[in-house]
Amino acid sequence: MTSAASPSTFTELGLIPELLARLTELEYTQPTPIQAKAIPSILAGSDLIAGANTGSGKTATFALPILQKISQGALKRDTKGNYVSALILVPTRELATQVANNVKSYSAHFNGAIKTVAVFGGVSVNTQMQALRGGADIIVATPGRLLDLISSNAIKLDKVNTLVLDEADRMLSLGFTEELANLLALMPA
Ligand code: AMP
Repeated sequence: MTSAASPSTFTELGLIPELLARLTELEYTQPTPIQAKAIPSILAGSDLIAGANTGSGKTATFALPILQKISQGALKRDTKGNYVSALILVPTRELATQVANNVKSYSAHFNGAIKTVAVFGGVSVNTQMQALRGGADIIVATPGRLLDLISSNAIKLDKVNTLVLDEADRMLSLGFTEELANLLALMPA
């Protein structure tokens, strides 16, 4: 039996054709429970705390609405400086790469219009600085490297419109509390 209250298709969640086409290609036939619950709220602009196990589809839960808002111009990037519209903070470089790759994959039908950059430590900072020239629509970052790039003026957080703390519990248990506080202080209230 299906429940009328819980959307059972991505179309019912209010996603746009460019995203729906990509989800069909990826063979995502149905939203997972967290996607069905959270995507409409994020599209509506609500703040949200969600808990779900690994493998529950949480990356798409935040990535799809962010991409939709950017493509509709709701999170417009200021290309005059090194600004970013949507910031996704993650605890590890592995997760930064994985989330950025997912976001890029979901963006396939925007014809390169949405710029996503992954930023993490343990690799040369120069390539990341170059990638950030002209800013980015979406940055997926570990806190320490992001702070380094901010101190060298490679990126500014003044125009962040959407913030995601992915695996927030792990970030706090890994001791990122102070870095997170420093980053939050650089964003609009
Ligand atoms: P995540 O929990 O975000 O790490 O996602 C776990 C895996 O599920 C990833 O490989 C996603 O590509 C996949 N996935 C996410 N949402 C769906 C969906 N609605 N249908 C099928 N696969 C999905």
